[in-house]
Formats: sequence, structure tokens, C-alpha cells
Amino acid sequence: MSESATTERPSLIRDVFGKNQFDDRIDSKPDIGTAEALSIIGRCLALLAKVPGLFCAKFVLRMGLIFPGLLLPWMAKIVIDNAILQRPIGGTEVVFPPFMDPILALIEGKDPVGIMLTLTTIYFVMLITIGGRVKGTAARLLAGREAASQSENTISQGSSAGSGLWGLAEFMVDVRMTQSIANNLRSRLFDRLSRLPMTALDDQRIGDSLYRVLHDAPEAPELAYQTTLWPFYSLLGALLNLYILQYSFGEVSPELIWIAWAAIPMAFFTTFPFSGALRRTNQNKRAAGSATTNTMEESMSNVAAVQSLGAGDQEHKRFAAKSGESFLRERYSMIVLIATISLASGVFGIAAFYVSILVSDRVIDGVMSPGDFAVLIGIYGQIAGQISFFGIFWIKIQDRVAAVRRVFFLLDYESEGDRTGGATLEQISEGVEFSNVNFSYPNGHQALDDINLQLRTGELIALVGPTGSGKTTLAHMIPSMLTPTSGQVLIDGHDVMTLDIGSLREQVTYVFQEHLLLSESIRDNLLFTNPAATEADMMDALTTAGCMEFIDELNNGIDTVLGRSGDTLSVGQQQRLSIARGLVRDSSVLILDEPTAALDPATENQLVESLRSASASRLVVVIAHRLSTIRTADRIVFLDEGRVMDVGSHDELMANQDSPYREFVELQGDAEGMAQK
Ligand code: ADP
Ligand code: MG
Repeated sequence: MSESATTERPSLIRDVFGKNQFDDRIDSKPDIGTAEALSIIGRCLALLAKVPGLFCAKFVLRMGLIFPGLLLPWMAKIVIDNAILQRPIGGTEVVFPPFMDPILALIEGKDPVGIMLTLTTIYFVMLITIGGRVKGTAARLLAGREAASQSENTISQGSSAGSGLWGLAEFMVDVRMTQSIANNLRSRLFDRLSRLPMTALDDQRIGDSLYRVLHDAPEAPELAYQTTLWPFYSLLGALLNLYILQYSFGEVSPELIWIAWAAIPMAFFTTFPFSGALRRTNQNKRAAGSATTNTMEESMSNVAAVQSLGAGDQEHKRFAAKSGESFLRERYSMIVLIATISLASGVFGIAAFYVSILVSDRVIDGVMSPGDFAVLIGIYGQIAGQISFFGIFWIKIQDRVAAVRRVFFLLDYESEGDRTGGATLEQISEGVEFSNVNFSYPNGHQALDDINLQLRTGELIALVGPTGSGKTTLAHMIPSMLTPTSGQVLIDGHDVMTLDIGSLREQVTYVFQEHLLLSESIRDNLLFTNPAATEADMMDALTTAGCMEFIDELNNGIDTVLGRSGDTLSVGQQQRLSIARGLVRDSSVLILDEPTAALDPATENQLVESLRSASASRLVVVIAHRLSTIRTADRIVFLDEGRVMDVGSHDELMANQDSPYREFVELQGDAEGMAQK
């Protein structure tokens, strides 16, 4: 991981205006244009289509909550004018809207106490059924300011514009809808991550991947609501309020109407220019957050190295720097948001100030009543809320767009590598062919140079060459864990790029150089690769790989549970167990990447012998150092600097004076003699 990001302190100016480079190898372009933002929103809307029933339920339930908001200002007017001030109903030129007719009929001819009693009863019934208050309710879990701790809130977030029984129903529908969308997306992302090519997903990306699955994905449902339900109900609410304003006050005070209309575009145009800056700061904040998670994951998974090399202090500083940077960027995005919202509120502040003066004048003149003042405060308050939503709407969704972009980025990443649609491979009967294969790692390093090679079923192949010569890279091409930069890898004559990747990997077993054991029992580790393995299969594999001698000494034998990635076993034991796990799989192609380092010569001979007998129906590729192993192979492929230098049996190659392999063996022989490797 590059250290440049930690040494250079981020600046607000650069975060807002500049382009940032992250220590992220595959996702280093965090800037989102408006067109891309729109396309991300479109894809979020498609997620809603997966929960049509819930969405309709939510839509209808939310619709019911528009009315209490409209009713309340007028009920306040009756309390002020007709109950407290005891004026006659309809004493001013202001007209009650038609939906108040039933309530007006109820209080017709009642004295002030009767009016209060009636209104209180109506209010009480509303309180129980729909809550009667226009305010959000959400599943508020304890959360900090940063995106990570808020994401669990987001995923179980329901919101209702009301409370009471109706609000509760809406809330439950909302939570279920949010969770099912987020869950769907999380699972898709997880699936995608587990299929990413190895060059994209090395272990330094674990923290970032976690962050995307756990913290970024839950933002998608919110983004979908914020671009559908929210604007719809805000617009509907605003239009209804504007209509009522026109209906009731249009005659009395026309200025009130045009002020309300004028505020809409003003709020929008003052805030819109900020959206780019807000999007960038949010993207930076999320990238910094996942870099922090990465650093932590890296230190934790290398805890032995950190402790043994006395690097604890340095790791601590590195983490503190990442975490500090993440918080700083969090503050930057807040500064930009606050500045933007303040500006939008300022526009409304000025409008509200003017309206107050205007209406006070009218009340003093007797054209309006004090109750009308209350109605206007209510209506204007609602319109301000609904319209300012449009002003900051584009702004508010930027944070979520930034989060969701990170999810879609990986979902889309190199989708041609995700070959689920290809032809299925039942079995490999002929073998593997490399045809003009070149391969360069993303950093530009060319690891394979024009490889032409045929590996046939029934052969035991030894892949030999100095460290860094490209053996592992070449072997990774067979199960398509890496794909050629140019040229073809053919399996039984089919280009691997046209094959279903799952069915291909079913036929190829790769025992990695690094042991990758699960922290489950030894038995589970074996069954993980072949659920159908019998007790006898497992014992065979364990014996061949030389595992029985240490398993017999464990208290629970084969049912002993291993520690994190198998670390309760010695490295040699872990490696043997990895080999046994590969053997139990019984697939057409078996690749062992330097299995021998941890085996003593006797066990190794035994292993190679049993591989020989197994290789009649299989292709076995062993990447090996030890001469005794290499010598038994049917053919040796000697690699140097990414090129095939020699192919043939040990005796053939040794008979050739100019053979690069022979030269290598002679050098190696000296070294082996000295080091007793
Ligand atoms: P071998 O297995 O023969 O030791 P590898 O196939 O692992 O060699 O590596 C071949 C070359 O590719 C080496 O020079 C190595 O440094 C380089 N290499 C390996 N993995 C990567 C990677 N992920 N990114 C860049 N270069 C790599
Ligand atoms: Mg290697």
C-alpha cells in the first residue's frame, strides 16, 4: 500500500476543487459527474422494482399522512379566532378550504367550550390513528458522525411521516422494504467480490471490500426513496399548500402566493452549484474511511509480523494517521453541507421576514384575523420545508450517490471476467494448452512472455525455475484465476474465456503456496473442498500428505478445531493439511504450488509416488524445488524470466550440454548441498 496518502495532509480546498488520488488500485477515480450520478440513481430505482408490493403499500400509507398536516393550521385558527377570541365563524375575508366543511358543520352554533371539546376529541382520535404530527420517525441506533457507524442505522431505517397506528404500519413496511433491498444488494456485491480476478482482490482490499458491503450498500435503498417517494410527497404537499393558499388567501393577499412560488427556483439555484463539491467531499470521506479499515485489517492479519519486528509503534502511527485523515474528511464534508444548507435557509429567512411584516399589517388593518396569522405560519412552514427539500434535494443525495457508486463500481468491475454464462465443463479429458500467452500485472510488470505449452491429462509435470520466474503466475492461468493479457489458454480445446468459470474451477484443484485453511475442524476443512468425501477418502488423503503423524497426537484427532486460518498447527502441518485437502477433491487437474518446502524428503517421496499413480487419469502440475521430486516428473517445464526455456524429461534435458535447465540444476545442486534444503 502506498504511503503517500498518509504523508500528505488533505486540505479542504483540494478536497472541494481538486482531484484526489487514493491508495486504491482499482478504484482511484472518485469524481462523479452529473450524468454518472443520474445513471447511479436510475440503477437504484431499478432496485425498487424488486419489491413492488412493499413499495405500493408504502406509497398508499404515506399518502394517508398528507392530510393531518393540511388540517392542523385550520384547527389552530378555529381555536384562536372562535374559541379564545370568541369571534363568529367566517368573520374575515379568508375562506376556509372545502376539506374543513365537516369540522365546521360539527362546531356550528356551539359555544367556545363546546368548540374546544369537539376539536380536542377530533385531535385525540387523530393522535391515536395517524399520530397527527408531521415529523419523521426512524430507528435511531447509537451512531457516530462517520458513515460507518451510521450504516447499520440506515439498513434498518424505517421512516414514517406520522405516528399512531397508521404511522406504525408505514414504519414497518418501510423497514422491511429497506432491509430487503439492502440485503439483495449486499448479497450481490458479496457474490461479485468472491468472483473478482485475483489481481483485483488481493488481501489488501479486504478492509475496503468490507466497507463497501457493510457500509456503502445500505445507502442504496435510501437513495431510491429520496429520489422517488420524497420528492413526490414534497411536491404534492407543496402543491396542495400552494393551492390552499390561493383558494383561501388569493383574494385577500395575492403577494403571499407569488412570494411562495418565487422561493422555489431561488432555493434551487442557490444550492445547485454546491452539489459537485459536496459529492467530492463525500466520496473522499468514504474512501478515507475504507482506507482506515484497510490499515486495520492489514495490521491485524499481519499481527505476528508487526509484533516480531517491533513495528507496533509504527503501525499505531499509521493507523492513527489514516483514522485522523478519515475524520478530517468527515469534517470537510460537513462544512460544505452546512454552508449549503445555510444558504438555502437564508433565502427562506428573507421571504419569511417579509411575509411576517406583510401579514401583521393585514391583521392590524382588520383584513385578517390573528387565527389567519397562525394558518399562514403553518402553511408557510410546511411549504418552506417541502420546497427547501427541492433546494437541497440534489445536495442531500450526493452522499448516498457517492456511497452507491462504490457499490456499483465493484458490481460492474471487469464483468467480462465473470463468465457465468459460458459453456459448462463436465470433465477435462485431453489437457491444457497455452497458446502465445502473455501476461502483465496491473503495475505493468510482464510476468509471462509468449508461452506455448501443452500439458496432457495423465502427465505429472514439474514446473521449475528461479523465484520470480513466473511459475505461480502460469499455474494461476489454468483455473482462470488470472487471464492472459494476450493469447489463449485452452482446456480440451476450449478457450477458458468461453467456459463457465464455476464449472472450470470444479475441475481444477489448486493447492496454494500459502496455506488457506478455515478455522473449522480438520474434517470440515476436507469436506469443504469435497462434501461427498467418505471417511476412507479422507484418511487416504491425510496419509498421503503425511498428516496422520500429527493428527494422531491431537486430542480430538480429525475433529480438532483449528485456530484462525489454521494457526494452531505448525506451518509445515498446515501445508500438509492443505495438500490433503487438495487430494481429497479428486479433480481432473491438480496443481501443487511448492508443496514440498514443508515436507521432509520421505513424506515428499511418498506424496509424489501417490501422485504418480493418481496421474493416470489426471493432470498433475507440481511447482517444485527439490531435485528428487523434479526427477520423477514425466516432463519438466523450466521457466526463467517469464519464458519457457526448456521442456522435457530430466534425463533428456540433462543429456543436453546447453540446457538452461541443466545449468540451473547444477547451480541448485551446489546450493542444496550447502544449505541442506
Ligand atoms: P514464482 O512463482 O516463479 O516465484 P510469480 O509467478 O509469483 O513467480 O511472479 C512472477 C513475477 O511477477 C515476479 O517478478 C513477481 O514479482 C511478479 N508478481 C507476482 N505477483 C504480482 C502482482 N500481484 N503484481 C505485480 N507483480 C507481481
Ligand atoms: Mg510462486
